[in-house]
Amino acid sequence: MSTTAPWNDDHFIAGDLALDFANTVYRRTPDLGRDLLDSTDALAGWLDHAGLLSSVDLDDSTLDEARELRGLLWRILDEQKDGRALPTEALAGLFGVARHHLDGGVAVAADGSATPLTAKGACSALAIQGIRLALSPHARPVRTCDRCGWFFLDTSRGRRRRWCSMQTCGNQAKAARYRSTHP
Ligand SMILES: [Zn+2]
Repeated sequence: MSTTAPWNDDHFIAGDLALDFANTVYRRTPDLGRDLLDSTDALAGWLDHAGLLSSVDLDDSTLDEARELRGLLWRILDEQKDGRALPTEALAGLFGVARHHLDGGVAVAADGSATPLTAKGACSALAIQGIRLALSPHARPVRTCDRCGWFFLDTSRGRRRRWCSMQTCGNQAKAARYRSTHP
């Protein structure tokens, strides 16, 4: 097992781990970009960088379940960010992943925080975090980057954050705007 996946702090900008996990693609819009969760090593590296589990061996079935979980999060969060009713089928799927490995795979502290004990338990812990976000939304709204579609909690003053990161999408959008007004 190696942790050579290209994760760095730029992949953890959302303010919530469930959102960071949903952002494990190069971009979501205008069309889906490269999947950054493209191997068991990539998932193990993400869990390590996220501080959930270090040096864990995991198999393809865990990777499949993680990707499925991410798809459920996308469906729920895309509705939540637009203030629409949450898709109950996707929410049921999220509960399914949460309970699947909860017994034996996750430790739950007195304060309700969930710590994975196994790789599959990490899927359950992330699903629990997704359920928290869906059913007890953070005071700051879930929004998406205007350019790449990554999710984040808008903690900016005035709630006007538009970019996942000013260094990447913000600057590129500014450059594109400059080019379009200075032909
Ligand atoms: Zn972006």
